[in-house]
Amino acid sequence: MDRRVYGLETEFGLTYAPREGGRLMPEEVAKYLFRHVIDYGRSSNIFLTNGARLYLDVGSHPEYASAECDSLTDLICQDVAGEQIMHDLALRAERALAADGYDGDVYLFKNNTDSAGNSYGCHENFLIPRRVEFARLAEILIPFLVTRQLFTGAGGIATVDGQRQWVFSQRADHLWEGVSSATTRSRPIINTRDEPHADAQHYRRLHIISGDSTMSQTTQLAKIGATDLLLRMIEAGVPLRDYSIAHPTQAIRDVSHDTTGRAQIELASGRRMTALELQRIFYDRAVAFVAAEGAHHDQLERVLDLWGRSLDAVESGDGTSVATEIDWAIKHQVLSRYAERNQLSVDHPRMAQLDLAYHDVHPERGLFHLLERRGAAQTVVDRDAVARAVTTPPLSTRAKLRGEFVRAARAAGRDFTVDWVHFRLDDDRGRTVAVKDPLSAQNDAVSALIDSIEAT
Ligand code: ATP
Ligand code: MG
Ligand code: MG
Repeated sequence: MDRRVYGLETEFGLTYAPREGGRLMPEEVAKYLFRHVIDYGRSSNIFLTNGARLYLDVGSHPEYASAECDSLTDLICQDVAGEQIMHDLALRAERALAADGYDGDVYLFKNNTDSAGNSYGCHENFLIPRRVEFARLAEILIPFLVTRQLFTGAGGIATVDGQRQWVFSQRADHLWEGVSSATTRSRPIINTRDEPHADAQHYRRLHIISGDSTMSQTTQLAKIGATDLLLRMIEAGVPLRDYSIAHPTQAIRDVSHDTTGRAQIELASGRRMTALELQRIFYDRAVAFVAAEGAHHDQLERVLDLWGRSLDAVESGDGTSVATEIDWAIKHQVLSRYAERNQLSVDHPRMAQLDLAYHDVHPERGLFHLLERRGAAQTVVDRDAVARAVTTPPLSTRAKLRGEFVRAARAAGRDFTVDWVHFRLDDDRGRTVAVKDPLSAQNDAVSALIDSIEAT
């Protein structure tokens, strides 16, 4: 595929810390958080002028699903814009709470587990051609997904066999639920529900649900960039079938728990390999593939550089060489320095607090954002581009049509219904326009719809 659609869905952790007044259940805080959304869109499930979707399912983990992007830089802009949109809702919720006598702070975390032990997700979406056999794709991709946490993991401290220790991934320990009921081995890592939001004859939407949410822009670049590269290799028929893992969900946890990268993984063939060995193979093949085929986007060199240096860092046992670029290493450096200064062991409650603070989306309070401001975390996109992405859609995909339609209908006060594919003015005798091609930013029927709004 020359161009690919990417989308990122992020569920956030939500808590309320009272300064004065009573406590609130997460569901109640979520209601305050979404009050403004409901005022604005008359629903807790809306599409924004930047083309993204904002919604609250049952429970209390609000979700932002980015618009369709066809470049990694657009995707990162859209994703970070989502944090800012969520943060704005948190500030509004604090004001509404204060008006009701609740004086306290609303916290939103871009992480994957809460203190009650719930796990929530970050879903990665990739448009893939239907002609690629899905079973073959999953067979090759799963060993990559199980081991990519060596450079994509959020890192942090978790309880393993009753002991607090450093791990690569927050999500890994929670992928175990549902395994027994799964009918395919790939179930908890790749969601096999077939809902392409595109022409189903030609496309699929690959839906990866095993990854950690990502704070660092460079980690995001490496994570999506390397996964896209693997998909390209699979689509091109590069032979990589021999690394099927015998027990993927066990392996993903074993890999997470062994921060030396030397966790032994049993392959379906009976062979054993370490996470590092598997990643080296994928990396070397990817480098060779790019050398032969050429780069398909202008961030590819940076993707490969980040990926390769991360593996070197794991191999050497020293994360400092990627400690401004890769989430687990950034977090490890700042937390272990703090532990040293304050003589804290890894199981000290303050370490868990700092681990959580790393994921706080608040631009002043959040630990990651503090590091970014100090230049201790590198970026891929600039602030202005992110600020634009809060209100403006990516310009080269279907999201542009959606963003323009939503903006026009809102400005005219017209009721409308949209989803990823469909566009409709509610009072337009039920006429619905479908745009099945997510890579298309132009559509005469949608333009006519927008013109009809503007003409009235
Ligand atoms: P759930 O939240 O229950 O998992 P879901 O994954 O179907 O549902 P959304 O939360 O609505 O749906 O998110 C869909 C994501 O897929 C968005 O990020 C969107 O940009 C992206 N997307 C839309 N169309 C395509 C497509 N054709 N190919 C790849 N990604 C797509
Ligand atoms: Mg979703
Ligand atoms: Mg999803």
